[in-house]
Amino acid sequence: MTSTLCSPPASRRASPEPKARPARRTRAACRGCGGKRLKTILDFGPMPLANAFRTADQIGRPESRYPLVLAFCPGCSLVQITETIPARTLFERYLYYSSTSDTVLDASRELVERTIRERGLTAASHVLEIASNDGYLLQFYAARGIPALGIEPARNIARKARERGIPTLGRFFGRELAARLARDGFQADVIHANNVLAHAEDVHGFLAGIKMLLKPDGAGVIEVPYVKTLVERLEFDTIYHEHIFYFSLASLERLAAAQGMEITGAEPLAIHGGSLRVTLSHAGGMRRDISEQVSILKREEERLGVASFDFYAPFAGQRNHAPEFLRNWQRHSGFRRGSQSGKARALHSGHQPADLRAGKAPGGHAGLRLAPQLELRRRDPRAAGGVQKTRREIHSTDSGAAGDLK
Ligand SMILES: [Zn+2]
Repeated sequence: MTSTLCSPPASRRASPEPKARPARRTRAACRGCGGKRLKTILDFGPMPLANAFRTADQIGRPESRYPLVLAFCPGCSLVQITETIPARTLFERYLYYSSTSDTVLDASRELVERTIRERGLTAASHVLEIASNDGYLLQFYAARGIPALGIEPARNIARKARERGIPTLGRFFGRELAARLARDGFQADVIHANNVLAHAEDVHGFLAGIKMLLKPDGAGVIEVPYVKTLVERLEFDTIYHEHIFYFSLASLERLAAAQGMEITGAEPLAIHGGSLRVTLSHAGGMRRDISEQVSILKREEERLGVASFDFYAPFAGQRNHAPEFLRNWQRHSGFRRGSQSGKARALHSGHQPADLRAGKAPGGHAGLRLAPQLELRRRDPRAAGGVQKTRREIHSTDSGAAGDLK
């Protein structure tokens, strides 16, 4: 699979509510280690898909809902949701263009400059990005004369990337595509994958694909949602069907090891309400200079007990405080309509202002007031559920993808 999908910020696409109820599967076993003793952290009950926006005539009609259960695997400490909605259902159409966010662009430029410097990249190097969106990141490599290839399954967005001169394959990334590229002789010095691994149900296939395409001294630079931050900041709103995984350094390390890779760099990032950026290298490979930050973070996770269920148990209890948080948020944001649970879900679903403007939020709560929320966000971009989009982004909806939203 499954998704390469979103590029930063994670998963902001619009997908109309599916006409037919999509096939779905509930996992009884861990996707990381196959362990069968998954322990429930939080059960949200049946929830609508977060980005299943509804047309005016759909509002008021029954809406498809799917179980949303966050679970912990005692075998490998991987935190995951138990339900799998097929990627093609979730990621049919996209709303989000990465290049419309100044924050994302600045961070990308900085990351590219640093990577070029640290890894000594030249015109003879090759860079690959999985979920390359509209070329928001690869453009900075291209500008420095470093060959860059993107993989982006959303056709409308891949087209934008090609228009700006970034070769882009309109495909989902996984073992199969990687094998094909490898057979054609493609090898990369650097592979970026920002906010996409969490969507890949076949997480082993995804990592195996990265391993296949990395040169012996190559590096995978991967950004994922950091489960430690999720728990510490009670970020219930980042849990939804699209996000299958919530990683810790410990769980990621085991997954990488299973594919013959090791983590040689790690840094927590503030973006998207708390992410973890790791560098993956071939295990025992040519570049084994493991950064000090990896052991610092590891010790921190060990101290907190991130790899044990006890770390997550209080998180579930904190959910009871959510109504209080929502009341405060309502008072400050000008949210007026919808039941408390509806607002909970609006937050929970990770809604964007554009979604709210459309008044077609999953759950059928039309007519949410947008303007005060925008004001709030302008003052504090983190106020509305940790969303960090600019006004410009909000208006940058694709005519095809967002046609239903206007
Ligand atoms: Zn497991």
